Amino acid sequence: MSKKLYGIYGASGLGKQVMPLAREQLGLTSQTTDYELVFIDDNPPQSEVNGNKVLTWEQFLRESASEKKVAISIANSKIREKISEKISREGVLPWSIQDSNVCVMDDVVVGVGSILSSFVLLASNIRVGNYFQANHYSHVAHDCVIGDYVTFGPGVRCNGNVHIEDHAYIGTGAMIRQGTPDNPIIIGKGAVVGMGAVVLNDVPAGVTVVGNPARPLEK
Ligand code: UDP
Repeated sequence: MSKKLYGIYGASGLGKQVMPLAREQLGLTSQTTDYELVFIDDNPPQSEVNGNKVLTWEQFLRESASEKKVAISIANSKIREKISEKISREGVLPWSIQDSNVCVMDDVVVGVGSILSSFVLLASNIRVGNYFQANHYSHVAHDCVIGDYVTFGPGVRCNGNVHIEDHAYIGTGAMIRQGTPDNPIIIGKGAVVGMGAVVLNDVPAGVTVVGNPARPLEK
């Protein structure tokens, strides 16, 4: 039987941070050593990055393998969505990557294709959609609901009872105030929370907020 083939889609900034986690995860969970771990990139920066081969998507598809799985390590959520649709059309399985030091508490459900980087914390009673990316040291407290293709930069502090809708982007070190079960804080679809922002109120869909307290960015 031929080898298993695992791909990290995106051979740039985030991909380089995800590759070592993928390597460790495979070492811990795979029953066999007969697998290959590669980058996939539509504009390969080099033929190899940090010792891993970089294939184009077409090359990846042409490789013969008994199983193919792909993790998408690109921060731009719209690109992530497009690539996830392409992967699914070709029958390639989405792959989730999680550092062994990630802390996941009780009753947490996370969708497919997530990337949980080092020291991420998901507290209890949380629902997360597909293709969530949580960069290093980002925290999600109890009773949060997170949609599809949501992205957290490093060190995000999301307190309890916050709802974050699809495609929202929360920048490095931002903090979101705790809501209540009856009145959660809502970060709308496609909203952007700037680096270090302190969010005290709902953020409407598509709006970018910055600062402390966070306010809409004036164009
Ligand atoms: N990329 C790709 N297909 C796309 C869009 C982007 O393969 O449709 C690759 C792009 O060539 C680059 C990487 O994804 O190598 C994105 O890297 P970037 O540094 O822009 O973002 P990050 O790694 O921080 O998400």
